[in-house]
Amino acid sequence: MILDLFKLDGKVAVVTGSGRGIGQAYAVALAEAGADVALVDVIPMDETAAKIEALGRKVCAVTADLSNGETAAPAIIAEVVKQLGGVDILVNNAGIIRREPFTEHSAKNWNDVLSVNLSTPFFLSQAAARQMIAQGRGGKIINIASMLSFQGGILVPGYAASKGGIKSLTMLMANELAAHGICTNAIAPGYIATENTRPIRENPARNEAILNRIPAGRWGTPEDLMSAVVFLASPASDYMNGHTLAVDGGWLAR
Ligand code: NAP
Repeated sequence: MILDLFKLDGKVAVVTGSGRGIGQAYAVALAEAGADVALVDVIPMDETAAKIEALGRKVCAVTADLSNGETAAPAIIAEVVKQLGGVDILVNNAGIIRREPFTEHSAKNWNDVLSVNLSTPFFLSQAAARQMIAQGRGGKIINIASMLSFQGGILVPGYAASKGGIKSLTMLMANELAAHGICTNAIAPGYIATENTRPIRENPARNEAILNRIPAGRWGTPEDLMSAVVFLASPASDYMNGHTLAVDGGWLAR
């Protein structure tokens, strides 16, 4: 039956940046669909872990700084395999944003954002894909893109470059990993009410300008993204590969 294709029983998912916000919603959604979940974050993950345990799923929390993925990624994947027995799903959600005009944008802001948003997903995906290939049962990798994978934005050159890059990397990974039964897709959230967007929501002029442009007429919530991650993590999307799926209240259609 069609709804059975969305089940994740027996799967192990890794979700970065899952201590709060959208990452917490992704982790809970995957657990609700049946997966055991490894949380990865620098902040405490107790709240997310408790929600997953309440669903009767196994959970492990890996505390890691994702600003240096080259060093961190192999150790994170090894720890997940040790604690939960394998890796079937990776969600590269952790991300940061730095707002500063282009002509003044510091090297630190540029480098920090590119590291967390683009380089670390590359290294984590590489480590996870190696594990998935060794397991021989395929897998699903889900990158987190943005409206700025399609548009330039203002004040956020590193963020725009990293999110444009993640959309391209998603297509490359789909091309190279499909032969191993691994699907790579991305979710491009619209404007979602989290800490990440608090400064623009607290700016009345920016807030109103954004709201006026969203056909749905409201900011999105982390809950609006839960079904998309389950779809892309499950057999229901087995013939989707290299796609960036916008969940944006119609923003891109405008
Ligand atoms: P958020 O509320 O800031 O949460 C991001 C999580 O990632 C936080 O727990 C954060 O921890 C963690 N993180 C950041 N840097 C890290 C690092 N170096 N090592 C380990 N963990 C780190 O952000 P969000 O709004 O949920 O966004 C999640 C993802 O969706 C990001 O990739 C973002 O770009 C993307 N996105 C968001 C929106 C939106 O409207 N909110 C729209 C499009 C795309 P700290 O508290 O320590 O930073």
